[in-house]
Amino acid sequence: MNIPMVDLKGQYQSLKSEIDPALLKALSEARFILGPNVLAFEQEAAEYLGAKHAISCASGTDALHLVLRAAKIGDGDEVITSAFTFIATAEAICYVGAIPVFVDIDPDTLNIDASKIDAAVSDKTRAIIPVHLFGQPANMDEINSIADKHGLFVLEDCAQSFGSCYRKRMTGTIGDAGAYSFFPSKNLGCYGDGGMVTTDDDEVARQVRVYRNHGSSEQYHHDVIGYNSRLDELQAVILRIKLKHIDEYNQNRLKIAETYNRLLAGKELQTPLIPKDRDHIFHIFTLLTERRDQIREAVIARGIACSIYYPIPLHQQKAFAGANSVHLPITESVTRRCLSLPIYPEMSEQQVEAVCEAVLNT
Ligand SMILES: *Cc1c(COP(=O)(O)O)cnc(C)c1O
Repeated sequence: MNIPMVDLKGQYQSLKSEIDPALLKALSEARFILGPNVLAFEQEAAEYLGAKHAISCASGTDALHLVLRAAKIGDGDEVITSAFTFIATAEAICYVGAIPVFVDIDPDTLNIDASKIDAAVSDKTRAIIPVHLFGQPANMDEINSIADKHGLFVLEDCAQSFGSCYRKRMTGTIGDAGAYSFFPSKNLGCYGDGGMVTTDDDEVARQVRVYRNHGSSEQYHHDVIGYNSRLDELQAVILRIKLKHIDEYNQNRLKIAETYNRLLAGKELQTPLIPKDRDHIFHIFTLLTERRDQIREAVIARGIACSIYYPIPLHQQKAFAGANSVHLPITESVTRRCLSLPIYPEMSEQQVEAVCEAVLNT
């Protein structure tokens, strides 16, 4: 049985009758930059998430970058984050001239270990970027209280967590700002690159709007050097349609994850934790196993996709040579044992069973 990591073609087929006419309409209206669908999507996303402001931009990486600029984080400042994430989280820190300080992860949630943040705070620390990795919310109450104590800005990396909740609040609305990605394979994905910032802070929102559009709040008046980082009108058309389905998509993901957990339980595999006080939306389903490479090869041999998110922690990447001497034992151990299985809203029960059979028969 051929099973991909995600099924973007299948999802398009199921939405084609909504998407095609809406795209054609936007093409004939020809308002391509910051057009009506971008503005409507921002309002609809803000309402869905319960954020005062939602400001779209060109990618998730840009969303992180624009917030750090807006928060005036810059040269020599330190920003605390996890090394077990996609590189963009830390790239954005470097774009503004700041220095990423990597803190180890919690072995159960694989998110930043909040109990280790305090020891990493120095007089240069300005912000914390918790990543809600794989769709699992980080320990936001603990993180916010450390941030309050030291006067730090909290930017939630929600690239993998659109619609996940922590103690009944949407991720991206718990810290000072949230950054989202709409990369095609994300749980809310468009058909190219896209991103968004959420915040309740009027000044941060205003600055993000200015920075994403060449530093200007009025055409041809430029207050600062900004960027060309706007969400495309055609992508906004697609996102407005997919936003209407996001609850159903996230619920399907959770159901699939529960089936995986049930079928794989107790087989010397560490299945992901599903805590009661937060809603994991399972953007990615990740197991931990000592036999990772062996299982991976056997699963792929059966035509079933699986991936390693992430094989090399950021502090050991060449790009972060300055951080190479840091030792993060849990992060390092997890990168040797993690294996991510296919998960997407359209996945059938039979497909989930086939994946489990392949994993268990190794
Ligand atoms: C995908 C991702 C990003 C970057 O988003 P892009 O839209 O690809 O720029 C940032 N952080 C995390 C955790 C991601 O998974």
